[in-house]
Amino acid sequence: MKFIAPVEKNKTYEVTIEDLTYQGMGVAKIENFPIFIANSLPGERIEMGVTKVQKTYAFGRVVKVIKESPDRVEGSGVEYTQTGIAPLQNLAYLAQLKFKQQQIQNLLNKDHLDDIKVDETIGMENPTEYRNKAQIPVRNVQGELSTGFFRRNSHDLIPIEDFYIQDPVIDKVILQVRDLLRRFHVTAYDERNNSGVIRNVIVRRGYYSHEIMVVLVTRTMTIPGQKALVEEISKIDGVVSIVQNINSRPTNVIMGPKDNVLWGEAVIHDELMGLKFMISAHSFYQVNPVQTEKLYQLAIEKADLKGNETVVDAYSGIGTISLAVAKHVKKVYGVEVVKEAVQDAKLNASLNDIENVKFITDKAERQMAKWESDGLKPDVVFVDPPRKGLAPEVIDSIADMKPKKIVYISCNPATLVRDIQLFSDHEYEVTGDIQPVDQFPQTPHVESITVLTAK
Ligand code: SAH
Repeated sequence: MKFIAPVEKNKTYEVTIEDLTYQGMGVAKIENFPIFIANSLPGERIEMGVTKVQKTYAFGRVVKVIKESPDRVEGSGVEYTQTGIAPLQNLAYLAQLKFKQQQIQNLLNKDHLDDIKVDETIGMENPTEYRNKAQIPVRNVQGELSTGFFRRNSHDLIPIEDFYIQDPVIDKVILQVRDLLRRFHVTAYDERNNSGVIRNVIVRRGYYSHEIMVVLVTRTMTIPGQKALVEEISKIDGVVSIVQNINSRPTNVIMGPKDNVLWGEAVIHDELMGLKFMISAHSFYQVNPVQTEKLYQLAIEKADLKGNETVVDAYSGIGTISLAVAKHVKKVYGVEVVKEAVQDAKLNASLNDIENVKFITDKAERQMAKWESDGLKPDVVFVDPPRKGLAPEVIDSIADMKPKKIVYISCNPATLVRDIQLFSDHEYEVTGDIQPVDQFPQTPHVESITVLTAK
């Protein structure tokens, strides 16, 4: 039987927005068929034009707002919604915080976990210009090398100079690099025929140190006029490191496997929770330093450490949680899959004279099982996995090691709720409220801390 969608392309319908997706699009339903509409807010009544119909959903655009949400505010520019840089810019900040709290609570309720409560989201005082890192695509726009961001669901570059949620110094550096690329006639990457030289410019800036790293992601092994270009970039205020990353394959993945230091250092330094960190081009480092300090501080407080514990930090990155925890406990074991990040973690341990940590490069799936079979008995396990959450093997290994507490830092409430269910099959229950901390203002990303305790 052929399913016929209840909406037709190019027709208009009057709908009420019921929810927001995790990409920040409003969701309306017609006969239970979901329609995703950018720049619409929950509670709003709108006239919507259908732009695309798929098998199980459709996309629409706002033709007219009939009843406006009381939480609607004037955004800073359409390009931030068009590109997905700041899809929630039209939602008042307090309502954004509420939305994130509610998002987790709704998922819990849907899974009949409504006795678990979610606390109010801890927000930022100034919820803009917070990112310490930018990954900016470089393309030709109307015959000129340009920097900006892709229009949502496309690879059309919209030139942008003020990125709104990024450290404004980073915005400035991107423009300076762009102008130098133009001056030295370096060509922009062209996806259609996999030609051109510069694919992306990545800029990272230490929040306390103000040290800047510029990464030029290139399709080619060499950059024409490299020597003069690098010399000019090295003169930009604050730049201490220029790295080339080679990505020759036609792929959407931003970075290739190989980094070359073109000038200066291979890392920048920064501080977090009073500790010093070195960060290399390839390592994950939280992008919102102000909120990361609150997040990890709270996670450590919630672990309620007494000083004699053995702790495991799974998905340890460059060792931020491990090193912050180390001074409160007897021993910390970290596991992380990215080799460069583990190298950074080890250097960061010595940089801070911390000796009671051990970092292993491996998949958490494998290393946790190994620790378990070696008889490691941690008192507390911290997990900070990527969006896909914990692999079931990791949950099994943790449960077999029988820690008293698991502190789960999550960047995806859907996988968090799934994993809470799996832990409960192993006799672990959530104690206290789930605490969201807003790491990504103006975007729908939800970060939170959950404590699970052995029943
Ligand atoms: N707590 C760290 C990083 C958390 S982000 C910090 O604050 O810096 C998640 C980390 O998980 C990333 O560093 C990523 O490289 C790592 N990762 C992803 N999949 C993994 C896996 N299967 N096993 C171990 N680490 C993994």
